[in-house]
Amino acid sequence: MQHMRRDFVKESINQDVMKQLNAIKVFSYIREQGKATRKQIEAAMDLSWGAVSNITARLLEKGYLVESKGEKGSANGSGSGRIPSFLAVNDRQYYVLGVDINITRLTVELVNLKGESVRQWSGEPDYRSSDALLTGVQDLLQRVIGECSGDVILGIGVAMQGIVDARNGISISLPQCPGWQDIPLAALLESWFGRPVYLEHDPNCVLRAEVQDRPRGNLLLLRIDKGIGMALLSEGRIFTGPGMLEIAHTIVVPHGAKCSCGGEGCLEAYVSEEGLSLLSGIAFPAAAERARSGDPAILALFGNMALYLGVAINNILRLFKADEIILCGDMMRYRDLFLDQVRQWLAGNSFCREPETLKISFSENERAAYGAALMAIPKVIENLNI
Ligand SMILES: [Zn+2]
Repeated sequence: MQHMRRDFVKESINQDVMKQLNAIKVFSYIREQGKATRKQIEAAMDLSWGAVSNITARLLEKGYLVESKGEKGSANGSGSGRIPSFLAVNDRQYYVLGVDINITRLTVELVNLKGESVRQWSGEPDYRSSDALLTGVQDLLQRVIGECSGDVILGIGVAMQGIVDARNGISISLPQCPGWQDIPLAALLESWFGRPVYLEHDPNCVLRAEVQDRPRGNLLLLRIDKGIGMALLSEGRIFTGPGMLEIAHTIVVPHGAKCSCGGEGCLEAYVSEEGLSLLSGIAFPAAAERARSGDPAILALFGNMALYLGVAINNILRLFKADEIILCGDMMRYRDLFLDQVRQWLAGNSFCREPETLKISFSENERAAYGAALMAIPKVIENLNI
């Protein structure tokens, strides 16, 4: 008797789990397709007509989906009098916030479940201490959530510089911020705002935003500003893992210039705003302006930067076959001082692929906050209670 009851309870729990999983699968399918009829869902998902009807009814009732009638006799209609009804993701009720914690600015974006950016806020970061930075992030998010009181914010994605343990939501280090060490950032934000929080390394978020509206392949992204970050898209998927792809602290000059990590001769000591400031003794961007007006010593530093950046890209391409390289970050505002030299160097040294087939593009408007929201959306959907 006991066994029977337990089996019955187990069975009904399994059924609930299956219902929930199927609902999430249907919702994700409609998101990918843009819109779909119930017949299309039934055919694509190996579900019965009854199951599709139940699931879509629940999704409509909770406001995750909206329904629109096709035009009679139009391209979308059957033309025979029957008007198919399309289901699409509701872009007005549920949202995810993306946050970019960056030394130059704090950015927050409100993104709907279709992946469209709706609104943006920004604030000044305070990097004097870990407490000051956390308080600034908390205040900005408090203000944003207050201003979005009519919207349902399902979760928060955070783009973070430094070394990030995305799986456990921990910001391991942030060299520019004194005292910032092993901060359980996701758990802290969850306790403050009562929503799931997903942490990501910022170059991954920039890459995610870059590939939102274009065909995906194998891409290499380098974000160069005060430091240098790297992300890879491998056959359409972003390659992630804590402490991985730390190109910044690979050594290009043994026993070379001092680096913010405490090491010597790292790529970042030559290829970053911070590195060029230390080498020239002049703050950035004043150093770049001096180079533009022809200062030979600083032009030589930019020449070295182009060389080491070219070396780094060349070496990465030996390990990972990219179809395209995207260079972004604040340093791209000064690309006139180094980008042509990088291109020339690569064209003269690439031996494992035709240089002309390798596309090098640059982006001045990287959108880490938007990408953080896009990366959080599938995780938020997985945990929806439908
Ligand atoms: Zn270093």
